[in-house]
Formats: sequence, structure tokens, C-alpha cells
Amino acid sequence: MSRIIVIGAGQAGASLAGKLRTLGHEGEIILIGEEPAPPYQRPPLSKKYLLGEMPLERMYLKPESAYAEAGIELRTGARVDSIDTQHKTITVASETLGYDALAFTTGSVVRKLPPAIGGDLGNVFYVRTLADVDAMAEAFGKGGHVLVVGGGYIGLEAAAVAAMKGLKTTLIEAADRILKRVAAPETSDYFRKLHGAHGVDIREGMGLKTLIGENGHVTRAELADGSLLDIDFAIVGVGIEPATELAEAAGISCENGIKTDAQGRTSAEGVWAAGDCASFPYRGARIRLESVPNAIDQAEIVAENMLGASKDYLAKPWFWSDQYDVKLQIAGLNTGYDHVIERHLPKGSSHWYYKGSELLAVDAMNDARGYMVGKRLIEAGKSPPREAVANPETDLKAFLKA
Ligand code: FAD
Repeated sequence: MSRIIVIGAGQAGASLAGKLRTLGHEGEIILIGEEPAPPYQRPPLSKKYLLGEMPLERMYLKPESAYAEAGIELRTGARVDSIDTQHKTITVASETLGYDALAFTTGSVVRKLPPAIGGDLGNVFYVRTLADVDAMAEAFGKGGHVLVVGGGYIGLEAAAVAAMKGLKTTLIEAADRILKRVAAPETSDYFRKLHGAHGVDIREGMGLKTLIGENGHVTRAELADGSLLDIDFAIVGVGIEPATELAEAAGISCENGIKTDAQGRTSAEGVWAAGDCASFPYRGARIRLESVPNAIDQAEIVAENMLGASKDYLAKPWFWSDQYDVKLQIAGLNTGYDHVIERHLPKGSSHWYYKGSELLAVDAMNDARGYMVGKRLIEAGKSPPREAVANPETDLKAFLKA
């Protein structure tokens, strides 16, 4: 009977292992995760869980017992240390296990501030794991002044939680605007204003020089312009790197992640990858997506292919972010856009990204309908004229039929 090992018990790993079983794989499935918890959802870490509005049990993708019931051997708190792709073995703790097929779902590694600028001081927190967020609960409880380093989605969501909890909140972003890497200036403007209305002091074009500690704990931050802030703790959200170390050490090709073909195969025979850690071909380019929908959809296609299907993964990128009472929903990828059309409705608004006359992506703020129709248009390869989108009276659904 064949044995499939899945390395990384997160969103993609749990989806992949579960799908293998529902597809009828009868051999062993071993799902190995370094974290002590069974697979859980990460989005609430910077939203409801951080706010204290979501109990731990609801974070888990399913109860731990469900894995055994499905015949999946879940090993938590176990790090895979090496892989031998020639002999088809892995080592985990001091054990060597053979595999017939192997999948990487190792996710991402959070980028940390170097110790030379105080990145290792106490009360400097990151937002990647349950342990990270649990560690900051005490600091949140005490209140005071928090410095958020990084104005991407995670930094902004953490800042929103801090402001909602009544903390004095300062957010610095080294680029000239928040969300610069992922969104248009119009979307940055929207969220800058939103945070301003909640009292968050957003400073753009402002790097961090160093964090200064007393008795090993951060107490001050020196910013790039030399100004000093007295702070009680810091939350750092400066991005992630795909977790490729293990794959690289095994000689597996990596290029902005573990390189796969359109079906999820890596350069090593019988070895596959899905989720945050995998880069794959997409419309003539190679991309990597960091989102829950991608982790699930890609993992499920890879499971099918591991069992003999031959299906290309056709990504349909979408993402969301919650800040205060605003739900941002994003469909498509805006890479290469040259126009942004704003569409304002009585409730909610949306920003539509075009390259020439081609619709690429939509950012919808409290506009679920705009998001849904935008997503369907993008997936159908249909692009309404830009003037039609700008007019709030236009029924955009009509363009789906066109
Ligand atoms: P992960 O969920 O990171 O799982 C990988 C697992 O592999 C980890 O548990 C890791 O410990 C383990 N691992 C790595 N190496 C080894 C090894 N050698 N041995 C054993 N185990 C190993 N996405 C959205 O779509 N919407 C959101 O609103 C959103 N918000 C987010 C908020 C936060 C705070 C974070 C951190 C992420 C958010 N994301 C969001 C992104 C989303 O959570 C990720 O894209 C998704 O979790 C990726 O799933 P994955 O399984 O690829 O990786």
C-alpha cells in the first residue's frame, strides 16, 4: 500500500490530506506539522482572534479527532529535518520514514527585524502563528502605546485591532504609502482615511532606525527621521518568505518558492508542492499566492494529480481583509495595471484595475455585489468599458451576458 507524506500541517496540508482520502486513496497518509496545534486558520490571527472575539476551538479547521477518523496520521510538534529524494525518505525527529509520494505544504516564514535593530527584544511581536498572537495577549491587555511596523494588510489589521481595543497606535511604513506593494493609491487613500478616523497615527515614507530596550524589553523606537517614540510594545508585519529551506537542501528547484509545473509537480520525482510555499505558472508568468483560497484550491488539485489525474491548476485569485467595520474583498491580480476606476455606491465602493481596456482586478470595500460581479467578469475574461464601471447607475451584471 502506498504511503503519502505531507510536510506542513497548515491550510494547504490539511486540505491536501483530506482530499486524498475523499478521493479514495487507500494507503497511509501522514501529515506532519511543526506547530503544536492541529491545522488552524490564520486569517483571524490578525482579526477576531487578536481582538479576543474568537475562541481557540473555532480556529481549528476541524477537531483533532477528525484526522484519525479519516485515517490520516497527524503528527504535530514534529519538524521534518531532511529529505532524501533518491531513496524517497524523510527524517523527522530521529526517525526515518519512507514515502511513495511527498507533498510540501510548508507555507511561509515570517520576516523578522534583525537583532542589530532590536528585532529580538522582548515585547516585539510577529503575527504568523497562534503562539505569536498568544504571546502578545498580555501586552494588549495592559494597553499603552503600540508601534506597528509595516503598512501591508497584516500591519493594518493589527493596527485596527489595537485601535479598537483603545490603545494608542502608531503605524510606520517605509514606502511612500501603505499597501504600495499590493494596491493602487486609491485603495491606500481609502484605508489611510479609515485608520485616521479611528485615531491611528499613520506615518508613510517612514522607516524604523532601531528599537531600543531596557532590561531586554522594547521601550522606545527611533524612526528614520531621528524622532523617538516611547512605546510599550511593537508588532512587526514586514512580510514573509516562502518556506523553501528544506526543499533547497534536498536539491529541489526553487524560484520565488518551490517551483512546480502547472499540476503541482516539483523537480523531484514523486514530490509535489502547494500553498504559500509553491510558485507555479500563471498566464505566461510564474507566481506565488499567499491566500487561503489558493492554499485550498491548489492543494485539492495537487491531491487529484498525486492520485493520477492530470489537471492544471487554474488559479482564480481572491483575497479579503477586515479592518474595523470594513470588509475589503479583492478579485484578480492587478499586476501591470495602468488605470484605476473608482465606483462609488450609496453603500460601499470599489476600485477597478485595468490594463488598457482589459479588466484585471477589483478591490471592493463593503461592496459584496461589486466584488462578486467583478470576480465573475474577470474569470470569464470580460471587461466592461471603463466609463460604464465609473457610472454607479450601470448594471454591471449585464456585461456577464455580453
Ligand atoms: P501555512 O498555513 O503557513 O502552513 C504551513 C505549515 O507548515 C506551518 O504550520 C509550518 O509550521 C509547517 N512547516 C513548515 N516547515 C515544516 C517542516 N519542515 N516540518 C513540519 N512542518 C513544517 N489569507 C487570506 O486569504 N485572507 C486573509 O484575510 C488572510 N489573513 C491572514 C492573516 C495572517 C495574520 C496571516 C499570517 C496570514 C493570512 N492570510 C490570509 C494568508 C493565509 O493564512 C495563508 O496564505 C495560508 O495559511 C497558507 O496556507 P499554507 O498551508 O500554504 O501555509
